[in-house]
Amino acid sequence: MSVDPRICPVCGARDERFTLVSEQPPTLACGSCGAGRTFRRLPLFCLTGPSGTGKSTVAALVAPAVAAEVVTLEQDVLWSPDLADAPGGVRRFRATWLRLAATVGQSGRPVLLCGTVHPDEVEPLPERALFSEVHYLVLVCEPDVLAERLRARPPWRGWDEARIAETLEYAELVRADAAAARPPLTLLDTTCAPAQESAGRAVSWLRALLPAEVAAPVSHRRPSSSGRPPPSGGPGR
Ligand SMILES: [Zn+2]
Repeated sequence: MSVDPRICPVCGARDERFTLVSEQPPTLACGSCGAGRTFRRLPLFCLTGPSGTGKSTVAALVAPAVAAEVVTLEQDVLWSPDLADAPGGVRRFRATWLRLAATVGQSGRPVLLCGTVHPDEVEPLPERALFSEVHYLVLVCEPDVLAERLRARPPWRGWDEARIAETLEYAELVRADAAAARPPLTLLDTTCAPAQESAGRAVSWLRALLPAEVAAPVSHRRPSSSGRPPPSGGPGR
């Protein structure tokens, strides 16, 4: 596959429809000339959850622990506030991330994408066809603790009471909907757990879902094979 999954190597057309015509081997059909092109179709891992549940802290601990197996990326690095106002801006943001993650996957390693996202925003996109599966680990937290964490954030982040209430409502919806979501969401409660413990659970979740073809040889893994990342000076809560 071309480095850009949209470009057909046969006719050069740019096509964003990503029609999967075969799963074995994974093959996309060009919308212009019909030519099939095979590509590496890996899973995508999403470390998600409402703001304040500990995503950034956990991601900082997980990334080095799984560096031999996945590429950890933070979705906020491509976010810009004008996307929220632009028609289709958020959808474009999601689609861009999926194409980027699929491009990384062509080098052999799946992406662990950190940041708030829900399957309803991913499953309907044509780019979803670029992945074998999308797995969601959702960090959750008891409402009073979540509100406390958000109130403690620096003022520039803009967490007033209205926004906190909105986040609590969203958090409750996500938690209640986890089992019914397609695909179902795996919840990880960070209310009482030290960040190291949550990170260890996240690592175990990820490794259990890694296809054998991309799992790192044991000798390349860090000394802890328990799934727990090595102790580091990462930020704690
Ligand atoms: Zn073509």
